[in-house]
Amino acid sequence: MSNLKLLSRILRLKGMKITQVQFKDYGRELHLSVKPHKNGCHCVQCGRRCRILSPGRSARCWEDIALLGRKVLLWYQPREIECPTHGRGQEEIPWAAPYARLTYRSEWRLCTLCQLMTQKAAAQILCMAPSTVSDILHRIVTRVRYAHHIRGLKSLGVDEISYKKRHRYATLVYDLDRARVVWVGEGKGRETIERFFEEALSEGQKRRILWGSCDMSRAYTEAIKAHCPNAKLVIDRFHIVKALNEAVDEVRKEQWRELGPEQRESVKGLRWLLGMGSSTRTKAHTRQINRLSRANRRIHRAWVLKDEFEHFWSYHYLGSAKSFLKRWMTAALRSRLPSMRTFVNTLRAHSENVLTYIERSLTNAVGEGINRIVKIAKNRASGFRGLHNFADMIYLIVGDLDIPDHIPSPLRSL
Ligand SMILES: [Zn+2]
Repeated sequence: MSNLKLLSRILRLKGMKITQVQFKDYGRELHLSVKPHKNGCHCVQCGRRCRILSPGRSARCWEDIALLGRKVLLWYQPREIECPTHGRGQEEIPWAAPYARLTYRSEWRLCTLCQLMTQKAAAQILCMAPSTVSDILHRIVTRVRYAHHIRGLKSLGVDEISYKKRHRYATLVYDLDRARVVWVGEGKGRETIERFFEEALSEGQKRRILWGSCDMSRAYTEAIKAHCPNAKLVIDRFHIVKALNEAVDEVRKEQWRELGPEQRESVKGLRWLLGMGSSTRTKAHTRQINRLSRANRRIHRAWVLKDEFEHFWSYHYLGSAKSFLKRWMTAALRSRLPSMRTFVNTLRAHSENVLTYIERSLTNAVGEGINRIVKIAKNRASGFRGLHNFADMIYLIVGDLDIPDHIPSPLRSL
């Protein structure tokens, strides 16, 4: 076996032949001159074999996976061809995507590393600057997703997430059946969600959506109603519970402000306790709250209302759920607590879409689960430079498309 052939075996270079080997930069870089194995000059777009026009103007270089701490660079001079359909252009390179600086297999490695760890850690392993890693990642994600269409979307969830300080938001659209993110857009509200419906879905796809889940903001409910004629809306349980907890907390805050320093002692340390669900509460917690019925009636009243509302989620029949909701709303209005009244008014405006929960207990909980993963990724990276870096990570970790799977790499092990 010749030395070049042996080297080619060690590096597992498939579909190419080494013609020359050179060490540069005091042995830190291994430069290989290569050429495609089969002498076919194929069109990048259609793969057809084409006529060669010229041997190409300049040599190009691709970075491969580093070998024992040495950078491996592949050099080749792509030839110019003429496709009968697509005209003049550079021939297809079997080891890398057009205009890419990395070979397919090092792209694949970069993607898998970024799925597992922070971009900073991946950059250290790959001996690159973190900004280079995120730029390359962005190019890969954009290229792979460009050819992708959303498929089989029947239950859609919409939620927003902040990705930077100073209230910068991104809107996420989920496929709730598959628990994946299908779209990420900058901003929140009607404008952003409109962009999703226009960009990502065809008219037929919109008609095929049967369920939609979102929070109580008009922006999302109305956009879903306007675009998906067959969709039934379910207001997300998580958001309703959150709004109710906030209303209870508002009562606590108002009491705190009104009471003097001595009386405050009785309502101390309640914030966390009031937000607790009945499933996580112990007897000691219940006793502590019951003491409130004497110490502070207003907070206790708000808490009782909140606790009663939990029953709503366990109903199976629409009729009984409806009458429960009506009774509960009347009781809440009679409580003379302003924040509870505001909550009831919001609930009443959406009551039709709140009741659909009984029919199908669809929640963004799947989405909230994804959100948690996204938040972990966000905290791990301690912020992102911009939305596109954040979106890349979301698509890579919880997107509906397995990005490394779409890189045609013959080498799939680290
Ligand atoms: Zn062609």
